Amino acid sequence: MKTKLIRVNDQHIDASLMREAGNIIKEGGLVAFPTETVYGLGGDALNPLSSEKIYRAKGRPSDNPLIVHIADMDDLGVIVREIPENAEKLAKTFWPGPLTMIFQKSNRVPYETTGGLDTVAVRMPMHPVARELIRAAGGFIAAPSANRSGRPSPTLAKYVTEDMDGRIDMIIDSGDVEIGLESTIVDLTTEEPTILRPGYITKQMLEEVLHEVEEDKTMMRADTGQAPKAPGMKYRHYAPKGDMTLVSGDAGRVAEYINEQIDFFKKQNKKTGVIGTDDNIAVYRADICKSVGKADDEKMIARKLYSVLREMDDEDVEIIYAESFGTSGIGQAIMNRLLKAAGHKVISV
Ligand code: AMP
Ligand code: MG
Repeated sequence: MKTKLIRVNDQHIDASLMREAGNIIKEGGLVAFPTETVYGLGGDALNPLSSEKIYRAKGRPSDNPLIVHIADMDDLGVIVREIPENAEKLAKTFWPGPLTMIFQKSNRVPYETTGGLDTVAVRMPMHPVARELIRAAGGFIAAPSANRSGRPSPTLAKYVTEDMDGRIDMIIDSGDVEIGLESTIVDLTTEEPTILRPGYITKQMLEEVLHEVEEDKTMMRADTGQAPKAPGMKYRHYAPKGDMTLVSGDAGRVAEYINEQIDFFKKQNKKTGVIGTDDNIAVYRADICKSVGKADDEKMIARKLYSVLREMDDEDVEIIYAESFGTSGIGQAIMNRLLKAAGHKVISV
């Protein structure tokens, strides 16, 4: 399959290009497109064949449910059985935006889209190109991140091309994304609203609207002995090819420990890498040292994290050490992704 690459300026959206992209999705094809979180791989959410195509293009197991993207609040009622009051409140505050909510699904949503579940995940993104595309495609786009399964989510169109060229119909390039980490997911089908995946919208922000919000216990830990609530969470996502370890503790000690390890692996002729911050990156002795920005600029770290992980792959780094970060604000989402990338391998020094 030949993949058509188009550029769309999000300030001046070319309506005829969006119609062309929307028609591809209406006819059962796949289009990768930008959102404010990461690039998504879109197909018609109400067409079971489209969802199967998405799984095939990603190489993703088909019991890992997709998120349905809408552009208008009126469309929510088509795909969910009921809209709980809490969901309405959250939608008023955070939609359009980087928040996904889980509802009971209506009969219009095929099980192929929800990975066999009776619930459906729904998000209304804010990115103008995403919104135009959703409308042009008929209102309901199923879209996971536009990466091959097991690779970091794409924050630039060139990463989508790396993973998807020849596998999908079209890629829409609108430059870099704003947030860089996937949406916050909140389950509203449980007694208490429960965060299944942390993101830019934090627990604290949600609690300003809903009083109390629970967190899924497996979110930040691997050793709870509990099965993850969200089916997709059992898969090892966002992993670089190299063997990655997180190191936490006092900054000076962290740098010292990482350098000792780097020296050890270099002697074994392993290619080594470090993911750190501007504050420390110059002290590391690894072959490849990448900074995700200033240690106190969490938004920048979120935006750069996945491209740094990909660069480690591009350089074929075999052993990766990463500094760990604070968990306030979006820091929790950053650590959640890093913990997954490292398979929960953390050393405290
Ligand atoms: P993404 O990888 O960004 O496409 O997000 C998809 C993830 O959303 C899945 O891996 C699940 O963790 C979560 N998800 C989607 N639908 C549901 C659902 N119905 N119930 C629980 N989690 C869901
Ligand atoms: Mg993903």
